[in-house]
Amino acid sequence: MNVIESSGLGKCYHGTWALRDCTLAVPEGHMVALVGPNGAGKTTLLNLVVGLAAASAGKVTVLGGFDTGSLVALDGIAFVAQDTPLYKNLSVADMLHVTRNLNSRFDQRYAEVRLNELGVPLNRQVGNLSGGQQAQLALTLALSRRPRLLVMDEPMSSLDPLARHDFMATVMTAMADDGVSVVLSSHVLAELERVADFLVLLSLGSVQVAGEVEDLLAGHRVLTGPATEADTFANRFGVVHATRGDAQAHLLVRTNGNTDPIPPGFEAHPVSLEELTLAYLRAPDVSWLPGPANARPAEATEVAK
Ligand code: ATP
Repeated sequence: MNVIESSGLGKCYHGTWALRDCTLAVPEGHMVALVGPNGAGKTTLLNLVVGLAAASAGKVTVLGGFDTGSLVALDGIAFVAQDTPLYKNLSVADMLHVTRNLNSRFDQRYAEVRLNELGVPLNRQVGNLSGGQQAQLALTLALSRRPRLLVMDEPMSSLDPLARHDFMATVMTAMADDGVSVVLSSHVLAELERVADFLVLLSLGSVQVAGEVEDLLAGHRVLTGPATEADTFANRFGVVHATRGDAQAHLLVRTNGNTDPIPPGFEAHPVSLEELTLAYLRAPDVSWLPGPANARPAEATEVAK
């Protein structure tokens, strides 16, 4: 089952496309990292997925083909928005009470046990909690609804490294215990590398790369060798990003099953998720390469299943 499936999805604000032609299929059971520079369209895509915005073009369905506004979708998806929307004047206990009343399913015991473990006092006013505690409270409220899909927009931006670690540990536990699928937008690439097994990379409102991390890493290599020989690759591999010094060139290439031998003098290295992501996010610098490699920029690598 695909927890998210979109086809030609687009959102236009006042004549400008914030997201366009987004075709994706995200299978259940994944931790999906949604990455992209500021303004890439991440929040727009997440708002469309959770039904907070209406599409200007195309279609998106969730949880195996349901419309985003449907009862199944409303019941099965929990959203932690970028600005951690909580009622700051309420106590934590009252916040639980309000959330319980607004949802058909709310696991009060789970919420209380978890907040106790985190040392978040139920009688504390929400506005007096630290940024990290507020983020943990928002996550606890979301998970207490026992969702099938948890969507989070930059949930860790206010957290210190230890709090981030604890936050992600809670998410991973929910995935392991309850089979929750997770979509998480973040700028912290190193952290995503540790937890994400599916990547969606947005840039300028378009999907540049989407697929299982394992497949993406297997389909790319870093090639290092003499700068003078670098154009050998131009017609054989898709060059995603290249840097060239006087003597050496480093090329991050899409091999995608290409089994041609690497030319003498070159070394091939596996690529990390962070390297791969940065290569696609950077403006491509392949102008010194001849041929098709030079024409790369807009071509999307869709490995979505
Ligand atoms: P960030 O990482 O900075 O949060 P993002 O990838 O989440 O960025 P979006 O917030 O989706 O990007 O914005 C994508 C584009 O759409 C931006 O150019 C933004 O200015 C525009 N945009 C988003 N929401 C609106 C809106 N309600 N009205 C007009 N333009 C909007």
